[in-house]
Formats: sequence, C-alpha cells, structure tokens
Amino acid sequence: MKLNDIYNKEKTQISYEVFPPKNDTDGTKTSKLFDEILSLKKYKPALISVTYGAGGSNKEQSYEIVKYLSEKNLNVMPHFTCICSSKTQIETYLNDLKSLNIENILALRGDEPKDNTICYLDFRYANELVEYLHLHTEFAIAVAGYPEGHLQAPDLNTDIKNLKKKLNAGGNVIFTQMFFDNDKFFKYKELLGKENISTPVIAGILPILSYEQLDKMLSLAKVTLPKKLMDTLEKYKYNKDDIKKIGIDFATEQCQELIENKIHGIHFYTLNKSYSTSKILDNLNYATYISEQN
Ligand code: FAD
Repeated sequence: MKLNDIYNKEKTQISYEVFPPKNDTDGTKTSKLFDEILSLKKYKPALISVTYGAGGSNKEQSYEIVKYLSEKNLNVMPHFTCICSSKTQIETYLNDLKSLNIENILALRGDEPKDNTICYLDFRYANELVEYLHLHTEFAIAVAGYPEGHLQAPDLNTDIKNLKKKLNAGGNVIFTQMFFDNDKFFKYKELLGKENISTPVIAGILPILSYEQLDKMLSLAKVTLPKKLMDTLEKYKYNKDDIKKIGIDFATEQCQELIENKIHGIHFYTLNKSYSTSKILDNLNYATYISEQN
C-alpha cells in the first residue's frame, strides 16, 4: 500500500524503524532483529522502515533486511540517501528495490562525512533526489522533517522553507526526527500550516532504552528534552531497568496525547528492540484501537 493510502485513514497508524546491525559478521544480530520485529507484527504496523547508510555504506545489508521483511508480508519502506552517490549507482539500487515490489521510499540527503569531505555527486540536497524519484519512478515518497530544525539549518523557518522544496518536488509524507516535547510537534504543524503545508506529518517517537545511548543520539541532532524528563533520567541513570521503564511511561503519555489529537501516524525508533515498543502499544491498547478501523 502506498503512503497516501496508508495515511488517509481516520485512525493513527503506527510504523517501526530498524537499522542494519553493525559488525554482524555471522548474521546473528540480524536474525535477532528479525525475531524482534516479527514479534511486533501483531500490532498491525502500516510499514517498517529500514535505514540506509549515507553514501550507501551498508547498502547490501540494508537491502537484505528489506527483502526479508517484504517476504514476510510487511510493507517495507527503505530509507535511501543520495549524498556521495552517483545517479548511476542510485538507479541500480532503485531497480533492485523495484524487483522486490517496494512501493514507498524515504528520500534523504544523508549526513555529510565526518571528515568534511565534499562529496556531492549528482544530488546535493534531498529535494533534488525527490524530484528525480518523482519524475522517473513510481515510488511514493516520504521525506524527513525536523520539529526543532535541522542541525545545519540557520533557523526553523529556513528549514521549513527547505522542507517545502521537497514537498513541491513530489514528497507525499513527512517523517519527523525524534522529539520528546509534544508542544514542539504541535507548534511545528502550526508553522507548516502557515506555509500552506497540509502533508501528513508522522511523529518520530524514541522509546528511551539507555541513558548513554540517548546521550549519544542527542549529541548528533537538534533535539531537546523537557527538564522534568532530563532530571528523572539523570537521577536513575545508573539503573538500566529504571531508565527503560521511564522511557516506556514517557513515550506512552506522548503517544496517548498524539493519538487523542488524531495525528496521521507514529513512527517508533525501535533501535531493533521490541520490548519497549510493545509495552507502549499494550499500554495504549493499540491492538484493539486499530482493529476497529474500517
Ligand atoms: P535535506 O532535506 O537536504 O536538508 C539538509 C540540510 O540542508 C538542512 O539543513 C536543510 O535546511 C538544508 N537544505 C535542504 N534543501 C536545501 C536547498 N535546496 N538549498 C539550501 N539548503 C537546503 N541518515 C542516514 O544516513 N540514513 C538514514 O537511513 C536516515 N534516516 C532518517 C530518517 C528520518 C525520519 C530522519 C528525520 C533522518 C534520517 N537520517 C538518516 C538523517 C538525515 O540523513 C540527516 O539529518 C541529513 O543531515 C539530512 O537529510 P535530509 O534528507 O533531511 O536533507
């Protein structure tokens, strides 16, 4: 099912993000990932997205995960980055995806290399990739949005103007960066409205699994934590189980409010683990909620 059909429903749809595990020489981590994700199938996710390394660094691994999950009758949306890749490389990969009957793609620029090497080949910004996909392929196209602004953007308004370029080029749905303050998400939607953007915005939710991991992720993105949450995490940071429980409770409340506000979708950054996402969905009684969908 294509993005437009998924997100024209009355109920809030859910989706999960997974990534190819690092240093998985014997495939054990990937097969564990499959078990984790398949255990979340019972909540009827609208789609599963699979990340893709900037410059195609983990292309084969990403492709194998897309293939496996598609064969398990899941609607898979591969992420795809254009930085440091030529048009020919991109076309070859897109043809591989087409052969799997993939219908949706998340079109991204990708992060620039850490050593600041300039490696733009045929596409510099994501809007150029979106335009290419729109003109030359049948994929429905998702794009990334940043409720607190992208790290490299001078301010949120400029970033929204750049987001609009992706939508004008053919982007169908916006998937957001993780956020922890729903007011920031609602404010973002308001700002998009002022730019006449009515594209569905899918909320990126990270169930916090560990203090160190969160700390690392926050250092790579422009994302703020509400003070109360930060203080609680700080207080329990040496107890892994407590942190996980805090993450579940916090994300449950966040999702509850988002669903009450009838947003189009929630995208869980699962970090390849099912436990917290499944607890959150149980707390929300999501299986019953979605079974009542026409
Ligand atoms: P763009 O939309 O091109 O924006 C990049 C920056 O350039 C922004 O600051 C923007 O304001 C500015 N900009 C955009 N267009 C223009 C223009 N035409 N002129 C001037 N300035 C412009 N990374 C990965 O490597 N792999 C993944 O799988 C992955 N998945 C992601 C999933 C989601 C939901 C999100 C939110 C991010 C993901 N990322 C992933 C991270 C993403 O690649 C980085 O944030 C990257 O730095 C920007 O990608 P983008 O597609 O948003 O770029």
